[in-house]
Amino acid sequence: MLLKTLETNPYVKLLLDAMKYSGCAVNKERHFSCEDCNGNVSGGFDASSSQIVLCQNNIRNQAHMNRVVTHELIHAFDHCRAHVNWFTNVRHLACSEVRAANLSGDCSLVNEMFRLHFGLKQHHQTCVRDRAILSILAVRNISKEVAKKAVDEVFESCFNDQEPFGRIPHNQTYARYAHRDFQNRDRYYSNI
Ligand SMILES: [Zn+2]
Repeated sequence: MLLKTLETNPYVKLLLDAMKYSGCAVNKERHFSCEDCNGNVSGGFDASSSQIVLCQNNIRNQAHMNRVVTHELIHAFDHCRAHVNWFTNVRHLACSEVRAANLSGDCSLVNEMFRLHFGLKQHHQTCVRDRAILSILAVRNISKEVAKKAVDEVFESCFNDQEPFGRIPHNQTYARYAHRDFQNRDRYYSNI
């Protein structure tokens, strides 16, 4: 299931290229760890070992695997490109959770449904905000108010930071376009 995700999912392929380009090439054996997890956690990024944990007891199907790997790779990408204080600065964590919720497609399915039913454009942002807060609460022992405040403080700039996608990839077609643009961007740079 992981192999299929790594080889065929456009979100994941773009992120793997971006990681490689940033000097943090991902290796399937070294950087992924399949484990049984508590509760309904699906995955996590272990910054101390630079490993993505996949919760084999909670990942339900291929689509779920795709979303989890994408979400965690966004954390890995942030870890690679910036000095992230995951444990000491809750705003750093909040920023990466906003980006992961915004860019991984976590909010896109729901978003599509709500757009059809209610025509609410704001729904995507609300979903990203709510999911980021829940993600923080899953890994930090802090109050909901503190988590919410951290997300509010970073939301504007981190929601608008769409690297390495360059757009919000609402579905696989958008993700494929983003991947193509990323490859072209790469080509332009190497021609300079
Ligand atoms: Zn996360």
